[in-house]
Amino acid sequence: KRTPGARRAAVLRGFAAGLAARRAALAALQTRNGGKPIAEVDIDEAVATFAYYAGLAEALDADQGRAVELAAAGYESRLWREPVGVAGLIVPWNFPVTLSAWKLAPALAAGCTVVLKLSEVTPLAELVYGELATELGLPPGVLNVLPGGGEAGAALASHPGVDKVSFTGSSATGARVMQTVAERCARVSLELGGKSPILVFDDADPERAAELVLGGAFYNAGQMCSATSRLLVQRGIAEALIARVVEAAAALRLGDPAERDTGLGPLASGAQYRKVLDYFEIARAEGLRCLAGGRAAPGFARGWFVEPTIYAEVPTDSRLWREEIFGPVLCIRVFDTEDEAVRLANDSEFGLVATVVGGDAARAQRVAEALEAGHVWINTPQLAFPQTSWGGFKRSGIGRELGPWGLDAFLEVKHITRARH
Ligand code: NAD
Repeated sequence: KRTPGARRAAVLRGFAAGLAARRAALAALQTRNGGKPIAEVDIDEAVATFAYYAGLAEALDADQGRAVELAAAGYESRLWREPVGVAGLIVPWNFPVTLSAWKLAPALAAGCTVVLKLSEVTPLAELVYGELATELGLPPGVLNVLPGGGEAGAALASHPGVDKVSFTGSSATGARVMQTVAERCARVSLELGGKSPILVFDDADPERAAELVLGGAFYNAGQMCSATSRLLVQRGIAEALIARVVEAAAALRLGDPAERDTGLGPLASGAQYRKVLDYFEIARAEGLRCLAGGRAAPGFARGWFVEPTIYAEVPTDSRLWREEIFGPVLCIRVFDTEDEAVRLANDSEFGLVATVVGGDAARAQRVAEALEAGHVWINTPQLAFPQTSWGGFKRSGIGRELGPWGLDAFLEVKHITRARH
């Protein structure tokens, strides 16, 4: 808590440099541990996050004790922001190094001490955070890296010594964590699931639109909280776009995630594989029209491979339209009007992200403003800059990561007011 911002910043820059120096080894480890294609590993985003919060740690110090303008002449009030205390960070397996950085960097920048609970599925690359803490001379206890399963996460969330729990994971577990933390009124932030839409209008460039649809649905084998797994496409472009997307999905090379030209790796775990296969069964039972995939990928003796899968004309009450699958599964509906598109997009219990694709900038802006989502991209792939926020409306979470909001999540606000005379 009393470590100056400049020292915290130096440590954070040390994390950035240490990760960058180990990039190749960490990428290989992450690929082996979670099956993420080597071209999709998330080390650079983590480096950028530590570098960004180093700057915010310095700025925080410089801003302490700032005078607040009052309407009462006889008093002076100043603003202080203090670390919330011990932060318990609980993370999932899909982008483990980056999602940990999104919590760890602001927590350390704020002056918190940390217990980081890794996902039991992908702990290997993330152990580097403990190694770096030792190397950078963090005093023992400032950063504790805790591998373990759900019971370790539950123990951390319920521990009376933990002042703030920051959780990323499924909505069901997040709700349990919130209940646990509510017992003692500790602070909590939740980054949860999604079922995000991508809206493609008639005046979109079909080639570009197909690329964005493909990336939004199949990057990291669809194991993304921000997967845009609901495609809403306007009638005039629907046939051409769907044909392109089906063709591009068929051309994705499934295989060894260590190889550069692998377009789709295996799912991260047997549990996730079984969950996705269950959804294929549900789709069959619901009678959905399958344009591609819908089955385990044949020809693999090892690895949890499923085919990139596309369903068309999916009814809005289908479980595949409403529930987060966390696999390479895209559901499509055709719309006619802008109003209909917005209504269909917002008809979800989630609200994490959305993508709008089309040539009319004014309409794209109007639609983006009407969407219930924490981040909307217009004609761009999913980019998460450290300076912009990450987090969801509705059941997709509570609070925001990244940007100054990510730092605020680990700070208490305090005013000291005194009489002038
Ligand atoms: P999960 O909820 O199963 O597990 C997340 C973490 O919580 C793991 O570390 C796990 O060990 C721990 N945990 C499990 N039970 C717990 C309990 N009772 N108390 C405390 N901790 C517990 O999620 P997952 O399968 O690892 O990850 C996939 C989910 O994460 C998806 O729903 C996805 O949308 C979500 N996610 C969200 C974001 C986001 O930023 N919004 C980012 C990535 C993933």
